Amino acid sequence: MSKTSSPADWQAATKLVRGGLERTPYGEICEALFLTQAYAYDSAEQAERSFTGEEDHYVYSRYGNPTVTMFENRLALLEGAEHCIGLASGMAAAFCALACQVKAGDRVVAATALFGACYHIIANILPNWGVTVEFVDGTDLGAWERALSTPAKAVFLETPSNPTLDIIDIRAVADLAHKAGAKLVVDNVFATPLLQKPLALGADIVTYSATKHIDGQGRTLGGAVLSNDAHFMEKQLTPFYRNTGPSLSPFNAWILLKGMETLELRVLRQCDNALDIARFLEGRGEVSRVMYPGLDSHPQKDLAMAQMSGRGGTVVSFEVKGGREAAFKTINALGIIDIANNLGDVKSLITHPATTTHQRLKPEERAAMGISDSLVRLSVGIEDVRDLTADLAQALA
Ligand SMILES: *Cc1c(COP(=O)(O)O)cnc(C)c1O
Repeated sequence: MSKTSSPADWQAATKLVRGGLERTPYGEICEALFLTQAYAYDSAEQAERSFTGEEDHYVYSRYGNPTVTMFENRLALLEGAEHCIGLASGMAAAFCALACQVKAGDRVVAATALFGACYHIIANILPNWGVTVEFVDGTDLGAWERALSTPAKAVFLETPSNPTLDIIDIRAVADLAHKAGAKLVVDNVFATPLLQKPLALGADIVTYSATKHIDGQGRTLGGAVLSNDAHFMEKQLTPFYRNTGPSLSPFNAWILLKGMETLELRVLRQCDNALDIARFLEGRGEVSRVMYPGLDSHPQKDLAMAQMSGRGGTVVSFEVKGGREAAFKTINALGIIDIANNLGDVKSLITHPATTTHQRLKPEERAAMGISDSLVRLSVGIEDVRDLTADLAQALA
């Protein structure tokens, strides 16, 4: 009998270090990396039982792998989800979560402010397959209500949104989605699995790009889909990913396991730095607007604090007076902060959304999303915040 509490009762930091750990008889401290494609059976009978499902035995790493399972179990424990499937990237996760459940004639409703590739899947790929799609302003509950007065199969949103950091009320949209007969899928990358628990707020499915905070150290792509809906996970998502092949590599799963060990340390430090930087930017004359859910000036601060464990997240967006020219000048003058379009990294990274991540949108689409030419997105890292503010101060000046 174990004297310790059950893993589900552990605090987040303990779950992140010890959750899902399965040791081999060698007793290794570090999670084992099982670089294997296939698995040997003791007998033809065992192989048969493994394929019928009578016996729990790995059959092929496109289906499952012990290192990938450790990653899935650790993330499921943190999320408070019964099921987790690790996939090759965040886009594999978002795509599989939608494509496995929709068919021609179905309807999908989504927030307009989405990660570019998620927007592309919903706006351009699903309609080719006969799926009807409708986009709404995610912050406008009346718009959700109107769109969801017609039955739908799935609802997709991201909060805080990229790059303007608008907040969507997950619980309110979940209620409307369920009344319309739809499952709510939340892309929880910006909030991180540490700060925001969409399933507890009524969402049905959560997707991650593990490439971001979960690795957090710029090394590997990865993704995951989590849910408490056994039918969705076992009958829809599992056959879809197993037969289409976007499986997570065991090597990448191993890196993500190591990343998770420090997720809380990193994300809390990043949030502290981000709040300091947002306040610093608000006091600068060269900056016309700062967007950060932890600031009193954020129109949805109360909702953000309630939904995101009292933290504003790791990304700060701001507008530099003087349009694109001034924004580029500031970015180019930085000495510590790197110019890169990734986020969630221990290194602070800055990008100009209008000319990079959101470049392919039409100018009027960008305008509707609040992405001006003066807008800059800063993913705040774990460096000493004094060095970061000094870097920003000299670049703005
Ligand atoms: C990065 C990102 C994705 C895509 O993840 P990849 O790992 O790059 O495929 C999806 N959604 C959001 C919000 C992201 O930031």
